[in-house]
Amino acid sequence: MGAAEQINPYQAQFDAWKAKSHELALTSAAQRIEKLRKLLKVILESREKILEAGHAELRLSPTDIDAQLLMVKGEAEFICKHLASWMAPQPIQGSLMTLGKASYVRYEPKGLVLHVSTWNAPIAEAFVVGFGAIAAGCPFVLKPSELAPHSAQVLHEIIGKVFAEDEFAVMIGGPEVSSDLLKLPFNHIFYIGGHAVGRIILRAAAEHFATVTLEMGGKNPVIVDQSADVEEAGRKIAWGRVANAGQVCLAPDYALVHDSIAKDFTRELGKSMTLMYNADGKGFQQSADVPRIVNRRHFDRIKGLLDDALAKGAKLEFGGETDADDLFISPTILSNVSEDMRIMQEEIFGPIICIVPFGARDQAIDTIRRRPKPLGSYIFAKNREAIDWFIARTSSGSLVVNHNLIQSGTNPYLPFGGVNHSGQGRLGGKYTFIECSNTRAVVEDQYPAGDPNIMFPPYSDKYKDMIAKMLAKEIKVPDAMINAINGIIKITGKIKGK
Ligand code: NAD
Repeated sequence: MGAAEQINPYQAQFDAWKAKSHELALTSAAQRIEKLRKLLKVILESREKILEAGHAELRLSPTDIDAQLLMVKGEAEFICKHLASWMAPQPIQGSLMTLGKASYVRYEPKGLVLHVSTWNAPIAEAFVVGFGAIAAGCPFVLKPSELAPHSAQVLHEIIGKVFAEDEFAVMIGGPEVSSDLLKLPFNHIFYIGGHAVGRIILRAAAEHFATVTLEMGGKNPVIVDQSADVEEAGRKIAWGRVANAGQVCLAPDYALVHDSIAKDFTRELGKSMTLMYNADGKGFQQSADVPRIVNRRHFDRIKGLLDDALAKGAKLEFGGETDADDLFISPTILSNVSEDMRIMQEEIFGPIICIVPFGARDQAIDTIRRRPKPLGSYIFAKNREAIDWFIARTSSGSLVVNHNLIQSGTNPYLPFGGVNHSGQGRLGGKYTFIECSNTRAVVEDQYPAGDPNIMFPPYSDKYKDMIAKMLAKEIKVPDAMINAINGIIKITGKIKGK
């Protein structure tokens, strides 16, 4: 057998997932809800193991992991509350052309769903996607990140307690596992991670015309306008940048601060970092709330960005301590940064923030527009006019005014996702369910309206005249009138027994 004809090592499993997909497509909302509740129960019962894994991988505090579990719980409960209504046919407004007909949308399962996931919040990232696939009635194949091996093992155990392998499978391993899985004709692929692999995923999906949801990152700007409350901005941004040691896709990456307040803001930011993470003066490295960088490769990457910036003239305003053996980088503030520094070109994904002062507002906008559209952007301002001005001139997957990070995990009605380089598609609540579903348009021809044969050849003069009249002017029939006519057609149709 030639190399090109080699059988994929996951082909037999794939065939089993495929067979299961037809069965799952016919399950009711009640059956899917029962599975979700059972899964949530096992997740919460596994809390201790999840805490141990998060501590071993990132030295996360129990409270930080509990906050992720709360998000997972909220997500599952939200889906259970709404799933029956999402699965019901969604009536669609009729039109003049569909008089006498019923139009609606059915969300039907796309089929096999693959999720190639990442390591910075591995439990939440697995389940926010997985819950959506279960809700939509799709078999789900999760490939957790090899950089979070303890969490991957816990995920394997949890899923094994609730699902058979043909319904929800956890595939442990690294890129070699994703590479083989990506050769198979999955119907939808989710990916969370960096750009290089994002491109690999898109190319692989193109082979089978799989639909794709990409959740990637970028350089998220935070604008601090001259009308901002500097102390409040410093406190919130200190938390947003240092949480998870900066390894958060939505974390503010650089701060565009109005000249007039740049000094005060920098001072307040440093003050808040100290109050939150070194209040006892024993050093940031001793704080139970400062996590570690995930591995030596990422540590070297972030340290490399810092060293490059300092060598090219950046000013160390705060922090700058590193300990390679402990994978520790202290909360750090840099000023005097420039475009030729790598730290202003790449996503930092670590606890370092760059201060970029601006004079005229257009300067801040130019800096943002020089980069691809980010996942999140933030505006701190008290002046409404300034807030609206900046909103109108920027684009990102999400935006928060006078805070940061709170657009994720707080409100399952909000869509989560990026735009172009920062991603495509949306996650959370109904959005994940829709990503896993085929939005199928349905029209049912029910009651005759006018002459039902008028549209067939040979075309009558009456029909030609009707089309000509419709082409000649704007058709302004209110929806309420269409609904009323439809109601009459339905009643007369019923009376006539049609
Ligand atoms: P990564 O890209 O290295 O890995 C992610 C996944 O891709 C892993 O499961 C890995 O096994 C797989 N993978 C790696 N190489 C592969 C290959 N050659 N072929 C197929 N699969 C491969 O993850 P990372 O870049 O370290 O993750 C950090 C990035 O993720 C940051 O840019 C961050 O902003 C982003 N992120 C985004 C979100 C979001 O929701 N938008 C959330 C978390 C992280």
